[in-house]
Amino acid sequence: MNDFLAVTHEVINQPRALENYNLYGGDRALREGVEREGGAWAGNDLSAFGASAGTAEMLELGHLANKFPPEFDSHDRFGHRVDLVRFHPAYHRLMERAIGEGLHSSPWTEPRAGAHVARAARFYMQSQIEAGHGCPITMTFASVAALRRQPDLAAEWLPKITARSYDPRNVPAAEKSGLTVGMAMTEKQGGSDVRANTTRAVPKADGSYELVGHKYFVSAPMCDLFLVLAQAPDGLTCFLLPRWKPDGTKNPLQIQRLKNKMGNRSNASSETELRGALVWRVGEEGRGVATILEMVALTRFDCMIGSSAGMRMAASQALFHCGQRSVFGKLLTEQPLMQNVLADLALESEAALALTLRLARALDQGEESLMRIATAIGKYWICKRTPNHAYEAMECIGGSGVMEDGPMPRLFRESPVNAIWEGSGNVQCLDVLRAMAKSPEAVEALFAEFESAKGVNAALDCHAKALRQDLSDPADAEFRARDLVDRMAVGLQAALLLKHAPSFVAEPFIASRLEGRGQHHYGTLARGTDCKAIIERGMPASV
Ligand SMILES: Cc1cc2nc3c(=O)[nH]c(=O)nc-3n(C[C@H](O)[C@H](O)[C@H](O)COP(=O)(O)OP(=O)(O)OC[C@H]3O[C@@H](n4cnc5c(N)ncnc54)[C@H](O)[C@@H]3O)c2cc1C
Repeated sequence: MNDFLAVTHEVINQPRALENYNLYGGDRALREGVEREGGAWAGNDLSAFGASAGTAEMLELGHLANKFPPEFDSHDRFGHRVDLVRFHPAYHRLMERAIGEGLHSSPWTEPRAGAHVARAARFYMQSQIEAGHGCPITMTFASVAALRRQPDLAAEWLPKITARSYDPRNVPAAEKSGLTVGMAMTEKQGGSDVRANTTRAVPKADGSYELVGHKYFVSAPMCDLFLVLAQAPDGLTCFLLPRWKPDGTKNPLQIQRLKNKMGNRSNASSETELRGALVWRVGEEGRGVATILEMVALTRFDCMIGSSAGMRMAASQALFHCGQRSVFGKLLTEQPLMQNVLADLALESEAALALTLRLARALDQGEESLMRIATAIGKYWICKRTPNHAYEAMECIGGSGVMEDGPMPRLFRESPVNAIWEGSGNVQCLDVLRAMAKSPEAVEALFAEFESAKGVNAALDCHAKALRQDLSDPADAEFRARDLVDRMAVGLQAALLLKHAPSFVAEPFIASRLEGRGQHHYGTLARGTDCKAIIERGMPASV
């Protein structure tokens, strides 16, 4: 025998990749949630969408779009300023699919009961393939709410913004079949505090303005339009900035460089300078924050969807892996301690989805008071729960979980991003306090959710009562805000699970999150929890 051709070993006990499965059909909590919250009519389409999302080819696109991140060319080879960002073809295919499926516009172009729920379900599945391209999709979707504040601009631009046509060319809007929209608020001296913006807006005789200044974070700089904040004579104002001027020349929004991000790698984010850029006013002068908040409320909601999706993919990977991997002679899904961890990860993921879909219904039904407070609560809580969840899921997979060949490092690197942008954690908590002070009806809407589950579980009833009492004490509210919002969030999730999920899901969630257990790490569910049932419910595909 030739020693060099000897077979060294057979590869055994290595799980199959999680691919060629249906992200809708294989997700019981998602299917139940969509039906419950008003999206049942979309079931067949969602199932087809889920099947295509789970193909090996589609999942590979997500991998490639991150393995080959965007590159920036400031000038062409002849010295002309081009501000061009080049993406891997995989990124473009994901964008094409997202826009073709109306993830950026379906509730606006085809409004009906459950439209936001159906769109949220699609975005949830699409984000599991890849999160970075979701950024321009979300911003385009959300921009519609702000642009509607300025009917002339809305009439001019919305048809192409909402069109189901992805046109990535760096050419004037008039030549394109579809447009995407970005958002530029953050400056070097302040992101949370946008009132510190120094970019100046100089009014022109024709009603337009010129912007001079900088923006420190401009994601998706290949967008065709941007909603921008700048200081006009009457104060901070929202403007619409086209990438190209109507006369076909480049508008001087100049990209200085791309951000070197730890996560969200497929999505280009940039630092830019505005050198007399043409813009049109959106809403009144001096009302910029109120105007752009119309958009920000929706981007925050999409952060909830995106982080819930990240948790679902992480839990799916962990469950599927452990369902096939044997250690010490037994499958990991049969080892009690791992069952505890997996079940806990699945509970967290299901609770995040339940809250997200409930808010999608609130959007559909115009439940403004609930949206006002619960978007901030949900954005804060779900986005903040994601990093540790991703890390635990990675650990379930062991050493291979750390390897860049698989999806776990990408899920992990992506996991903190949503918590930081669109208003970081503390900013969300302060926003909850603001909602409580300015809109007492928002607090009532929150407690109506607890009320609707009252009398079923004593721990939840006690939780709601204690929370109500603590909210009535205004002393040191800012200092205590995280504690209060944490409790609002888990209370809301508990109420939703109690009403809608099987008791083997709702009860351990309440016991671990409301009754003081499981505060420190995943995998500390109480004795007697039916982990097998939770694992079976969460399993994305048969192993
Ligand atoms: C990947 C990525 C992409 C981004 N893309 C965009 C984009 O496209 N457009 C855009 O405009 N911006 C974008 N941003 C910027 C983002 O919105 C800001 O980074 C964010 O709003 C925080 O602002 P900052 O970085 O200036 O931090 P700061 O405002 O300095 O905040 C730092 C910390 O202080 C906390 N904090 C703030 N105020 C208080 C307070 N009163 N009490 C207690 N704590 C407080 C915050 O929660 C935060 O944790 C992006 C950021 C990232 C990471």
